[in-house]
Amino acid sequence: MDCGTPVCYAWRLTRFRPAAAKVLEHNMKLLKSCSGQDRVDILVREFLRFKYGDGGKFYRLHWSGDFFSAAYARDLMEACAKVPDVTFWNFTRNFSEPVVAAIAEHKPGNVVQYVSADEVNLEQAVKTTEKFPGTFKFSYMGACKPEGFPGLKDCPANFPHKNAIEFMCSKCRMCLKGRPVFFRTRGAGVKQKTGEDK
Ligand code: SF4
Repeated sequence: MDCGTPVCYAWRLTRFRPAAAKVLEHNMKLLKSCSGQDRVDILVREFLRFKYGDGGKFYRLHWSGDFFSAAYARDLMEACAKVPDVTFWNFTRNFSEPVVAAIAEHKPGNVVQYVSADEVNLEQAVKTTEKFPGTFKFSYMGACKPEGFPGLKDCPANFPHKNAIEFMCSKCRMCLKGRPVFFRTRGAGVKQKTGEDK
Protein backbone atom coordinates (compact mmCIF):
# COMPACT_ATOMS: atom_id res chain seq x y z
CA MET A 1 0.00 0.00 0.00
CA ASP A 2 1.43 3.32 -0.99
CA CYS A 3 -0.57 6.02 0.68
CA GLY A 4 -0.04 7.91 3.84
CA THR A 5 -2.30 10.87 4.34
CA PRO A 6 -5.54 11.26 6.26
CA VAL A 7 -7.27 12.03 2.94
CA CYS A 8 -6.81 8.43 1.81
CA TYR A 9 -9.77 6.24 2.80
CA ALA A 10 -7.55 3.13 2.82
CA TRP A 11 -5.18 4.84 5.23
CA ARG A 12 -8.09 5.72 7.51
CA LEU A 13 -9.55 2.22 7.36
CA THR A 14 -6.31 0.45 8.14
CA ARG A 15 -5.65 2.84 10.99
CA PHE A 16 -8.83 1.78 12.71
CA ARG A 17 -8.82 -1.83 11.46
CA PRO A 18 -5.32 -3.15 12.08
CA ALA A 19 -6.42 -6.65 11.05
CA ALA A 20 -7.23 -5.30 7.56
CA ALA A 21 -3.77 -3.72 7.41
CA LYS A 22 -2.21 -7.11 8.15
CA VAL A 23 -4.20 -8.77 5.36
CA LEU A 24 -3.13 -6.07 2.90
CA GLU A 25 0.48 -6.45 3.92
CA HIS A 26 0.28 -10.23 3.51
CA ASN A 27 -1.34 -9.92 0.07
CA MET A 28 1.25 -7.43 -1.10
CA LYS A 29 4.13 -9.65 0.03
CA LEU A 30 2.57 -12.63 -1.67
CA LEU A 31 2.09 -10.81 -4.98
CA LYS A 32 5.62 -9.42 -4.90
CA SER A 33 7.15 -12.79 -4.03
CA CYS A 34 6.10 -14.43 -7.29
CA SER A 35 5.68 -13.55 -10.94
CA GLY A 36 4.37 -14.75 -14.28
CA GLN A 37 2.09 -17.78 -14.31
CA ASP A 38 2.36 -18.30 -10.52
CA ARG A 39 1.08 -14.79 -9.87
CA VAL A 40 -1.64 -15.12 -12.50
CA ASP A 41 -2.80 -18.37 -10.84
CA ILE A 42 -2.98 -16.76 -7.38
CA LEU A 43 -5.05 -13.89 -8.75
CA VAL A 44 -7.38 -16.15 -10.73
CA ARG A 45 -8.00 -18.30 -7.62
CA GLU A 46 -9.04 -15.19 -5.71
CA PHE A 47 -11.34 -14.03 -8.53
CA LEU A 48 -12.97 -17.47 -8.78
CA ARG A 49 -13.46 -17.56 -5.01
CA PHE A 50 -15.22 -14.22 -5.32
CA LYS A 51 -17.29 -15.37 -8.28
CA TYR A 52 -18.43 -18.76 -6.96
CA GLY A 53 -18.08 -18.21 -3.21
CA ASP A 54 -19.67 -14.79 -2.98
CA GLY A 55 -21.63 -14.86 -6.24
CA GLY A 56 -19.92 -11.62 -7.18
CA LYS A 57 -20.09 -10.04 -10.63
CA PHE A 58 -18.27 -6.75 -10.07
CA TYR A 59 -14.81 -6.75 -8.56
CA ARG A 60 -13.08 -3.58 -7.39
CA LEU A 61 -9.35 -4.09 -7.85
CA HIS A 62 -6.87 -2.36 -5.53
CA TRP A 63 -9.27 -0.76 -3.06
CA SER A 64 -5.95 -0.15 -1.37
CA GLY A 65 -2.65 0.02 -3.23
CA ASP A 66 -1.75 0.32 -6.88
CA PHE A 67 0.25 -1.31 -9.66
CA PHE A 68 3.75 -1.79 -8.27
CA SER A 69 5.44 -2.91 -11.51
CA ALA A 70 4.81 -3.36 -15.22
CA ALA A 71 5.11 -7.14 -14.84
CA TYR A 72 2.41 -7.11 -12.17
CA ALA A 73 0.18 -4.94 -14.37
CA ARG A 74 0.51 -7.51 -17.16
CA ASP A 75 -0.16 -10.46 -14.81
CA LEU A 76 -3.21 -8.78 -13.30
CA MET A 77 -4.71 -8.03 -16.72
CA GLU A 78 -4.09 -11.63 -17.81
CA ALA A 79 -5.77 -12.95 -14.66
CA CYS A 80 -8.83 -10.72 -15.22
CA ALA A 81 -9.07 -11.97 -18.80
CA LYS A 82 -9.43 -15.52 -17.48
CA VAL A 83 -12.62 -14.60 -15.59
CA PRO A 84 -14.53 -12.86 -18.38
CA ASP A 85 -17.98 -12.88 -16.77
CA VAL A 86 -16.78 -10.70 -13.89
CA THR A 87 -16.38 -6.95 -14.54
CA PHE A 88 -13.35 -5.44 -12.83
CA TRP A 89 -12.77 -1.77 -12.19
CA ASN A 90 -9.71 -0.05 -10.97
CA PHE A 91 -8.01 3.31 -10.42
CA THR A 92 -4.33 4.02 -10.81
CA ARG A 93 -2.02 6.85 -9.89
CA ASN A 94 0.98 5.09 -11.38
CA PHE A 95 1.54 6.74 -14.76
CA SER A 96 5.04 5.44 -15.36
CA GLU A 97 5.56 4.55 -19.00
CA PRO A 98 6.19 0.77 -18.55
CA VAL A 99 3.13 0.36 -16.33
CA VAL A 100 0.63 2.23 -18.50
CA ALA A 101 2.03 0.55 -21.62
CA ALA A 102 1.55 -2.88 -20.01
CA ILE A 103 -2.02 -2.01 -19.08
CA ALA A 104 -2.77 -0.71 -22.58
CA GLU A 105 -1.30 -3.82 -24.19
CA HIS A 106 -2.93 -6.44 -21.97
CA LYS A 107 -6.19 -4.94 -20.66
CA PRO A 108 -9.12 -7.20 -21.54
CA GLY A 109 -12.62 -5.91 -22.24
CA ASN A 110 -13.92 -6.83 -18.79
CA VAL A 111 -11.57 -4.38 -17.02
CA VAL A 112 -12.55 -0.71 -16.63
CA GLN A 113 -9.30 1.09 -15.90
CA TYR A 114 -9.36 4.66 -14.58
CA VAL A 115 -6.67 7.23 -14.06
CA SER A 116 -7.03 8.77 -10.62
CA ALA A 117 -6.26 12.45 -11.13
CA ASP A 118 -5.99 15.30 -8.65
CA GLU A 119 -4.45 18.76 -8.48
CA VAL A 120 -0.98 17.22 -8.19
CA ASN A 121 -0.98 14.82 -11.13
CA LEU A 122 -3.70 16.20 -13.43
CA GLU A 123 -1.41 16.94 -16.36
CA GLN A 124 0.15 13.48 -16.25
CA ALA A 125 -3.25 11.81 -15.93
CA VAL A 126 -4.64 13.66 -18.95
CA LYS A 127 -1.54 12.83 -21.01
CA THR A 128 -1.97 9.16 -20.16
CA THR A 129 -5.62 9.06 -21.22
CA GLU A 130 -4.76 10.89 -24.44
CA LYS A 131 -1.82 8.65 -25.24
CA PHE A 132 -3.92 5.49 -24.94
CA PRO A 133 -7.38 6.48 -26.19
CA GLY A 134 -10.03 4.02 -25.11
CA THR A 135 -7.83 2.34 -22.49
CA PHE A 136 -8.07 4.77 -19.60
CA LYS A 137 -11.18 6.38 -18.15
CA PHE A 138 -10.94 9.63 -16.22
CA SER A 139 -11.62 10.30 -12.56
CA TYR A 140 -10.73 13.28 -10.42
CA MET A 141 -10.42 13.57 -6.67
CA GLY A 142 -10.40 16.97 -5.01
CA ALA A 143 -12.21 19.58 -2.99
CA CYS A 144 -13.93 20.88 -6.16
CA LYS A 145 -14.29 19.90 -9.81
CA PRO A 146 -11.46 21.00 -12.11
CA GLU A 147 -12.19 23.46 -14.90
CA GLY A 148 -12.31 22.10 -18.42
CA PHE A 149 -13.92 18.74 -17.63
CA PRO A 150 -17.65 19.37 -18.10
CA GLY A 151 -18.60 15.68 -18.27
CA LEU A 152 -17.47 14.83 -14.75
CA LYS A 153 -20.30 13.33 -12.68
CA ASP A 154 -20.39 13.28 -8.92
CA CYS A 155 -19.95 9.94 -7.17
CA PRO A 156 -23.09 9.56 -5.02
CA ALA A 157 -20.79 9.28 -2.02
CA ASN A 158 -20.13 13.02 -2.47
CA PHE A 159 -23.62 13.54 -1.04
CA PRO A 160 -23.89 10.90 1.66
CA HIS A 161 -26.99 12.34 3.32
CA LYS A 162 -29.00 12.30 0.10
CA ASN A 163 -27.77 9.04 -1.31
CA ALA A 164 -27.68 6.42 1.38
CA ILE A 165 -28.59 3.61 -1.01
CA GLU A 166 -26.89 4.77 -4.21
CA PHE A 167 -23.71 4.83 -2.18
CA MET A 168 -23.24 1.25 -3.07
CA CYS A 169 -21.22 0.74 -6.22
CA SER A 170 -23.38 -2.21 -7.18
CA LYS A 171 -26.40 0.13 -7.29
CA CYS A 172 -24.69 3.10 -8.88
CA ARG A 173 -22.42 1.35 -11.42
CA MET A 174 -21.17 4.61 -12.88
CA CYS A 175 -17.56 3.42 -12.70
CA LEU A 176 -18.47 0.05 -14.18
CA LYS A 177 -19.57 1.93 -17.30
CA GLY A 178 -16.39 3.99 -17.44
CA ARG A 179 -18.12 7.35 -16.92
CA PRO A 180 -15.91 10.30 -15.92
CA VAL A 181 -16.28 10.50 -12.14
CA PHE A 182 -15.59 13.16 -9.56
CA PHE A 183 -14.78 12.20 -5.95
CA ARG A 184 -15.01 15.05 -3.50
CA THR A 185 -12.42 15.15 -0.73
CA ARG A 186 -12.88 16.84 2.57
CA GLY A 187 -10.23 18.23 4.86
CA ALA A 188 -6.55 18.20 3.91
CA GLY A 189 -5.28 18.59 0.35
CA VAL A 190 -4.39 15.68 -1.88
CA LYS A 191 -0.74 14.76 -1.62
CA GLN A 192 -0.53 11.04 -2.18
CA LYS A 193 2.50 9.52 -3.83
CA THR A 194 2.29 7.68 -7.10
CA GLY A 195 3.10 3.97 -7.22
CA GLU A 196 6.68 2.90 -7.84
CA ASP A 197 7.75 1.03 -10.92
CA LYS A 198 10.29 -1.72 -11.05
S1 SF4 B 1 -19.38 6.60 -8.80
FE1 SF4 B 1 -20.72 4.89 -8.25
S2 SF4 B 1 -19.63 3.06 -8.92
FE2 SF4 B 1 -18.14 4.74 -8.82
S3 SF4 B 1 -17.23 4.64 -6.74
FE3 SF4 B 1 -18.98 6.07 -6.64
S4 SF4 B 1 -20.71 4.75 -5.98
FE4 SF4 B 1 -19.11 3.37 -6.75
